[in-house]
Amino acid sequence: MSAHADVLVVGLGSAGAAVAQALAAEGRRVVAIDKREVGETGARWVNAVPEWCFERARLRAPSGGELFVAHHDASSRAMHLLAPEGGGRLTLRAPPVLHVDMRRLVDRLVHDAIGAGVTVRRGRIASVELEGGRVVALRVEDGGREERIAARLVVDASGLGGAVRERVPQLARVCPAASPENLCVAAQFQHEVRDRAGLEAFLETHGASPGHDIAFPSIAGGFSTLTVFTSPALDRVGVLTGSIPATGAADAKEMMARFLAREPWIGPRLWGGRGAIPLRRPYRVLARAGVALIGDAACQVHSAHGSGVGIGLVAARMLADAVRGADDPGADEVLAQYERSFHREHGGVLTAADAFRRHVQGASAAELAALIEEGLLDEALAMAALAQRPTRPSPALVLRLAPRALRNPGPALRFFPIAARTAVLDRVAALVGSRRVGASVERSIDSLVGEAPRHVGPGAWREPGSRDRADDLADTSRSREDA
Ligand SMILES: Cc1cc2nc3c(=O)[nH]c(=O)nc-3n(C[C@H](O)[C@H](O)[C@H](O)COP(=O)(O)OP(=O)(O)OC[C@H]3O[C@@H](n4cnc5c(N)ncnc54)[C@H](O)[C@@H]3O)c2cc1C
Repeated sequence: MSAHADVLVVGLGSAGAAVAQALAAEGRRVVAIDKREVGETGARWVNAVPEWCFERARLRAPSGGELFVAHHDASSRAMHLLAPEGGGRLTLRAPPVLHVDMRRLVDRLVHDAIGAGVTVRRGRIASVELEGGRVVALRVEDGGREERIAARLVVDASGLGGAVRERVPQLARVCPAASPENLCVAAQFQHEVRDRAGLEAFLETHGASPGHDIAFPSIAGGFSTLTVFTSPALDRVGVLTGSIPATGAADAKEMMARFLAREPWIGPRLWGGRGAIPLRRPYRVLARAGVALIGDAACQVHSAHGSGVGIGLVAARMLADAVRGADDPGADEVLAQYERSFHREHGGVLTAADAFRRHVQGASAAELAALIEEGLLDEALAMAALAQRPTRPSPALVLRLAPRALRNPGPALRFFPIAARTAVLDRVAALVGSRRVGASVERSIDSLVGEAPRHVGPGAWREPGSRDRADDLADTSRSREDA
């Protein structure tokens, strides 16, 4: 069997479905394949996504049933970041993200793609056919049946594994898969609330109200988190856990089990899932040989919190814009335009976020607590990071910090080098999109981003006389039970 298309999209997660729909809407013949059935593709849990990404991607923002809680008024929402070792809190009022039910969003995007004329097939790649260094067709296999699909542009939207990227030498050489110390494993599940009073007590203990989120960054050491989302009616709770297991931290499954065992008010699991997220800046090379990478396959992820949905949707729109009107959608100059515009618009923010993530991965709990306690990370900076916007300290923050830094220079001196590096990266990383200077700039960027620490196991996090945050948390719930 064989088929011909203008564009073949591999992967129907959020990024793949969005690009397939955008290209088909402009009259391209688009075939999309996914190894999973329609209705099972992409992320199947709750993701926090900045609202501006939908606008930039020219997509309707999720509302109603596509959200963790329908009709949750943004102004009544808040997120509390509780520093490790009881080291202070930062409260973000009306955080600039939507809690999206990804099952519903992905299903809407896939149905819109089909409605725009995209032909969807189930299948996985068996092999890639190259001619003169360019991909001309994929052989796709499903249950023993093989089909050759020829296309002038192939879009790899297959997520972390980069199913096309890994098979095309021109890409595989320059787009290495994320190494274990740069791989976050996360789990996110929704639960019923068995005992409302238990949840009320949990919120009170942590100074939060119904409908608020509580995040415990670095709970298992280094780059790790436990975040709890609550519904205003106190009938639902979402739990997110994530860490980099290769660094010796407890993994997402273990953290989840530990938390659920200690919070008996949490009832039966409803839905959610687990997966891995590549934490690194986007590849310098986003397209070659008639193949464009988008979403997790391109490492288009905000590493500071492992978020790839919003920026993947934006990349889908940018690719469709670059392709518009081109005779050959896979031509090198078309792909160069996509690469350049993506890096120019988002390369700086995402690269600076990765440098910050690497810093956090190697910092002690006390250093991280000091960020919040000393006011080095204020509400404006945290909101910008959550919104995936440039994190530039405001003049007001600098004025507020100056007298404190003079009185107690330690935390500020430790923070200054990473603040300076992210400020430089924020501006310079955009240049890697230029094919003339990109490769040489990239080497300097590598050294500014720094190495990702490999071993930050729980042992590294116990300061004399203190315990890790998970134990503190366990104690909190135990003492409440005793009471
Ligand atoms: C628990 C968890 C929580 C997260 N929280 C957030 C969050 O709060 N905010 C946020 O923005 N991001 C979050 N992320 C990351 C986010 O889910 C991903 O960045 C996003 O789903 C990437 O979208 P994508 O379309 O690029 O890839 P995916 O969603 O991975 O979709 C890829 C698709 O390709 C298909 N595929 C794979 N290989 C093949 C193949 N060989 N052949 C055919 N099809 C193939 C898969 O079946 C899948 O449907 C989280 C991730 C996890 C695991």
